[in-house]
Amino acid sequence: MHLNVETLSLINGGDALLLALMLWFGTRSGSNHAVQGLRLRATSLLLEACGDFILAFDFKLAPQTVLLVGNTFNLSAQALTIVALRMVLQRKLRWREAIALGVGAWLGATYLAAVHPDYRLRVLWGSVFLIGMAMLNIAALWNDRPKHDARAQYLLLWAYVLAVALLVWRNASLWLLPTPPQGIGTPTAVNVVYVFLLGMQPLMASVGFLLLYNEILQRELHDLARIDPLTGVTNRLGLLEASEVLLVRARARKEPIGVLLIDADHFKSINDRFGHDDGDRVLLELVYNIRRMLRAGDLVGRVGGEEFLVLSPSVKEADLLALAERIRSAVERTSFHIAGQAYTLTVSIGAAIADPSEPDMMGARRRADAALYEAKRAGRNCVMISGG
Ligand code: GH3
Ligand code: MG
Ligand code: MG
Repeated sequence: MHLNVETLSLINGGDALLLALMLWFGTRSGSNHAVQGLRLRATSLLLEACGDFILAFDFKLAPQTVLLVGNTFNLSAQALTIVALRMVLQRKLRWREAIALGVGAWLGATYLAAVHPDYRLRVLWGSVFLIGMAMLNIAALWNDRPKHDARAQYLLLWAYVLAVALLVWRNASLWLLPTPPQGIGTPTAVNVVYVFLLGMQPLMASVGFLLLYNEILQRELHDLARIDPLTGVTNRLGLLEASEVLLVRARARKEPIGVLLIDADHFKSINDRFGHDDGDRVLLELVYNIRRMLRAGDLVGRVGGEEFLVLSPSVKEADLLALAERIRSAVERTSFHIAGQAYTLTVSIGAAIADPSEPDMMGARRRADAALYEAKRAGRNCVMISGG
């Protein structure tokens, strides 16, 4: 097979240019980090296309000049891709490291092309810096990776790991083979694979970026649909899903789940006296007080206006009552301030235990509701537990 670097560069550049335009015009500008990342990726593809076109047409320039200008474009593109990927992932951007790796690679390649020409050393030097860049991308994809629904993230991760392996293979063939290839045009196995994958790289990386962007967006939408916008705690849907997961776990461990239904006392009067906005602030204070009393595995969600549900796995009745009492007393002891005046809020709490043998949490929820009703009837600011 004959490797024509000019033709390959032309195809590569055309691909990169088209993808850059599609990515740029197919995304709306805005303050969203992930979209900014896609647009930066489009810019890096544009630089890559410039580098490829210079290699393809060489514009009657000296071969060394072509190499240096091409390298400038290609290394800038690689550095920008590092930052773009981190923008999409919402990680620390690492501009400094990306630029340092790009500049380091360029200086070495320039020296080993113009001052002290040495093909093998130049490839080695460039590969070390490209591996450094790939490692930065691998670190961004590996750290804080989500436990679920991260297929695209893993796909990109493996693509960068394979890129590192390919660079190592290319250098091994240059330094270890008895008759190493004299340039990228020599059709050895590693050169064919290298040039083939290099040609596909703009397309593969762009699809990878889009898959990753889609995955992140899906995750954000999933979370958004399960979070109460005012208080930031789980909403009804999130609670429903979480309770199913907790019940499966409880059945496996044969342990009960504690349920607390917490309702603010006379909350309507707070709204009536101070207005809805101050009422919202009091609700936030209430959620803060509930949350700070919970154990690590406990979950709180908002089931209605000023009504919250706590699910506390693996608790006995006495522990559940103690937790409810801690919450009740924390709320009672915390005063909130409106227009310079201090006020207090109280809550009534209904408690129930869900047995792991129950088909769902609905029964326990109903019992907690009945206990809450009893607490309200008993004069509020107290905890009642359902008799079963
Ligand atoms: P009780 O002690 O019997 O629970 O009396 P209550 O006034 O707390 O009970 P009720 O259910 O009658 O009223 C709840 C009030 O909570 C009604 C509504 O004005 C208020 N509320 C519901 N959602 C919100 C919200 O998101 N923000 C604010 N500020 N108020 C809310
Ligand atoms: Mg109430
Ligand atoms: Mg209520």
